[in-house]
Amino acid sequence: MKNRFKAILITKDGTTQTASETELGLDDLMEGDVTVAVSHSTVNYKDGLAITGRSPVVRKFPMIPGIDLAGTVETSSHANFKPGDKVLLNGFGLSETHFGGYSELARVKGDWLVPLPKAFSTSDAMAIGTAGYTSMLCVLALEDAGVTPAKGPVVVTGAAGGVGSVAVALLAKLGYRVIASTGRPEEESYLKELGAAEIIPRSELGGDPRPLSKERWAGAVDSVGSKTLANVIAATQYGGAVAACGLAQGLDLPTSVAPFILRGISLHGVESVYMPMPRRLQAWERLARDLDVKKLASMTQTIKLADVPKAAADILAGQVRGRLVVEIAA
Ligand code: NDP
Repeated sequence: MKNRFKAILITKDGTTQTASETELGLDDLMEGDVTVAVSHSTVNYKDGLAITGRSPVVRKFPMIPGIDLAGTVETSSHANFKPGDKVLLNGFGLSETHFGGYSELARVKGDWLVPLPKAFSTSDAMAIGTAGYTSMLCVLALEDAGVTPAKGPVVVTGAAGGVGSVAVALLAKLGYRVIASTGRPEEESYLKELGAAEIIPRSELGGDPRPLSKERWAGAVDSVGSKTLANVIAATQYGGAVAACGLAQGLDLPTSVAPFILRGISLHGVESVYMPMPRRLQAWERLARDLDVKKLASMTQTIKLADVPKAAADILAGQVRGRLVVEIAA
């Protein structure tokens, strides 16, 4: 194992936060029973918030950001893992209170690790990352609520983003008619290639919501929140369900009880960071079964560690299409 390794480190001086590439030693790593040689990480919206400091994601400074990692176990005193095992990790406080994935080495709790599914390389696992794993959690929530392809279409908001792109691909493969809502009309052919049957402009759902509107879909995957989520709820058909995971438009939710008490719809909050291990494993098993790796490749770009700070700003500006993989070690 290397004694020195490269990482991105966020430091804070007063109110000013800076993220830059640096070299650290083994003694700098945090507590954990497994050390992983990280080969890939990724950039999600939350990574953008952490690196720019736009929201208080980072709770301890200095911090290595990166909410996901995938790589190979170097040392382990955890019963489930041994050197050479391929693993991945999403969330569990990475980049908040524990050093994250933008680092050649990570020392973490074995209880947080997921064995890499055989269907995926470590690069594929990070092309999925927290965004794609959260999309699968949303799909599972809709299935649990009884939303089937026969019940009607499913709308995906923020469709050209990370959560959105994976949700479109997954739902289409499962046989749902997918309506993709995007603010980027130029991504129509991209979204259709992923499996969207219909594209609607973001503006159609972004304005002031009415308590109820025409019933349009049986289900929804929403990564946008705010007025968009309120409009999605108002147009969900009788007995339908909405999985809400994001806040790209805002944290607020200007809705009413009307869709709940007059149409019996349900709203499912989806949280990925502290999701218990059995559901995580289920989500990764289902991703291995239901996500087309060719479509995954078509929605993914690969960048280097040094490109992460720029990518963080770009993702918050809504300028990243699909998913970004960060190559840490080839
Ligand atoms: P991305 O930036 O890749 O995707 C977000 C998409 O939302 C954009 O691509 C854009 O899609 C749309 N969007 C951006 N700004 C606005 C706006 N002002 N109004 C309406 N739509 C907008 O981010 P991710 O996919 O990584 O994450 C999406 C959201 O999900 C984030 O809020 C993130 O924090 C949340 N999330 C939550 C998780 C959880 O555990 N609950 C886990 C993972 C993500 P388009 O251009 O197509 O309109």
